[in-house]
Amino acid sequence: MKLVSFDKNRLGVVRGQEVIDISDLAASPAEDWPPVGMNRLIRRFQGAIPELEAAVASRSGRPLSEVRLGTPVPWPSKVIAYPANYHAHAQEMGREYRANTQGFFLKPPSALSGPNDPIVLPVNSGRRIDHECEFAIVIGRTCRDVHRDDWREVVFGYTLLIDAVIRGKEERVARKAFDTFCPVGPWIVTADEVGEPNNLRGRLWVNDELRQDANTRDLVLDVPGMIEMASSVMTLFPGDLIAAGTPEGVGPIRDGETVTIEFERIGAMTLKVVQGDTGKFSLFAKEGTP
Ligand code: MN
Repeated sequence: MKLVSFDKNRLGVVRGQEVIDISDLAASPAEDWPPVGMNRLIRRFQGAIPELEAAVASRSGRPLSEVRLGTPVPWPSKVIAYPANYHAHAQEMGREYRANTQGFFLKPPSALSGPNDPIVLPVNSGRRIDHECEFAIVIGRTCRDVHRDDWREVVFGYTLLIDAVIRGKEERVARKAFDTFCPVGPWIVTADEVGEPNNLRGRLWVNDELRQDANTRDLVLDVPGMIEMASSVMTLFPGDLIAAGTPEGVGPIRDGETVTIEFERIGAMTLKVVQGDTGKFSLFAKEGTP
């Protein structure tokens, strides 16, 4: 099943090229703040499958092209992200460490944006702002200390994620936390439709130029390993996202360009890059060494 958020936090199931509105089956109205309908739907998903399947079979839909897709989980308790999780990318960045010995960082949920939103470049940055082509694990259950052999029990599904970053030596979180620096979408594909996540080709283009082309079999820390490590530190909750890290080929994005990300069996989305007028503080005004 493919689940989407659309038109200001309505919830939907994708059927072909249509969206079936199932907002009434979530335990949180679309108008609520914070928008936690998807978290609640994920939490009760197994029990909700008969209702969802009945809705998909009986309700009329709207064309996907006529709705505005939002980020699928707008209010996760956290976005966990693994750096240096592909050897070739770690080498291109000159990193000695790898994800299996370094651990992870967090991106704030406020950085999330959706498949119809642009990546907004902050002002006052003389720095290179890069794309990182990633996929994300969507957590399905509250859990702690998950052994790697039990990873399937806690994975709800997968989605696409771009980890945007200002290169430099300042705190990594500050460089990766700008609004719209974490586009996620276009939907969540439930784990049963993806199957084994250890052999997925992922690609990213800027305009028509292929920049990144890799396979999840080259991950340093695989999906079970990422879950085992993160859950050893923190309780994971339904809707939490784990960004798997990027392969080699990261590069700059500039005003007016488009970024397309695709992973097989998950999906694809194309985003605009625009120069914004926010982010005026001078933290990143000086040129820095990537
Ligand atoms: Mn990354």
